[in-house]
Amino acid sequence: MKKQILILAGDGIGPEIMAAAEKVLHKINAKLQLGLSWEHGVLGGAAIDAHGVPYPAATAAQAEQADAILLGAVGGPKWEQIERSIRPERGLLQIRSELNLFANLRPAILYPQLADASSLKAEIVAGLDILIVRELTGGIYFGQPRGIRELENGEKQGFNTDVYAESEIKRIAKVAFELASLRGSKVCSVDKANVLEVTELWRQTVTELQQAEYPDIQLSHMYVDNAAMQLVRAPKQFDVVVTGNLFGDILSDEAAMLTGSIGMLPSASLDEKGKGMYEPCHGSAPDIAGQNIANPLATILSVAMMLRYTFREEEAAKAIESAVGAVLDQGLRTADIMSTGMQKVGTIAMGDAVVAALDAF
Ligand code: NAD
Repeated sequence: MKKQILILAGDGIGPEIMAAAEKVLHKINAKLQLGLSWEHGVLGGAAIDAHGVPYPAATAAQAEQADAILLGAVGGPKWEQIERSIRPERGLLQIRSELNLFANLRPAILYPQLADASSLKAEIVAGLDILIVRELTGGIYFGQPRGIRELENGEKQGFNTDVYAESEIKRIAKVAFELASLRGSKVCSVDKANVLEVTELWRQTVTELQQAEYPDIQLSHMYVDNAAMQLVRAPKQFDVVVTGNLFGDILSDEAAMLTGSIGMLPSASLDEKGKGMYEPCHGSAPDIAGQNIANPLATILSVAMMLRYTFREEEAAKAIESAVGAVLDQGLRTADIMSTGMQKVGTIAMGDAVVAALDAF
């Protein structure tokens, strides 16, 4: 495997958080001799400024060649007035769909040091470690027919179609089962099988796959309304949660907020062969861009996810996650996770502290 990474820093705080993450990547690559190499490209607003489009052909060629893509964030007020089809966010959708990144992994992990940042009681969320696996390229967001039509009586009617083929359900369920086998061996599949036929098929297909190929994984099923409730009532009951595009969109945001800070949350979007795009869950935060106050930890933790899921370098991934834990233990906090008695640091200092903690292992 050639181990090539494409780095797309993007807009707003993107270049700042990526500079910190790149230092961490450099350190872990040298320390554990991982043999990774990387190059830079442009996406989003930065690409519009340079080439007039958010996902230029040159970036697409680089992305095609790479084994993994590390992305900061795209978008900002500067590009909000331009034509919708070439806005920065469109570049993001293009790269995801062109690379067929159908599996979106969103871990909700609460570092014990930050338990007070959650809006839930510390004992409910301390030590939380859930992985939400969301199907990203199918379901109601892409289903046809869709649109707004006029009825005979002149009233308008909006409509969308929720569709999943067995093959789409199987491939995302397979990802969930495989990941569960590396963790707590539990998968909860979320659907609305009592009302929607598309999720009746979802439930049946997931069950058949588990029985045929993953007998050691404990599979449970939950209706989405109950899942939304259980996530705030007793979130630690979950290990891996697998669900479709629409339910996953909502539940992954809900799970993310259990942890308190959006500045801490990484994500991965994978294709069938393990190629992936890794990015923080947050956006480009134009309100704080260029001030050296953004939290780089979500991007640094995205590097850890990349090492784990694309390059299968578990030791390296764990080292980065431990280094982040060590820095939090030292009491260092960026403004978004600041609490009484802690030491406030900027983006650069936070990144450098993680690099120093990696040196100490
Ligand atoms: P946002 O996530 O950028 O910001 C929401 C709030 O969280 C802001 O107050 C921001 O300052 C804060 N925040 C976000 N990341 C932070 C960090 N690392 N450290 C500290 N604070 C942080 O969401 P938004 O304001 O809705 O969107 C801003 C821009 O980002 C828009 O152009 C939007 O389209 C784009 N966006 C991009 C992505 C992406 O690239 N994947 C995702 C979401 C939004």
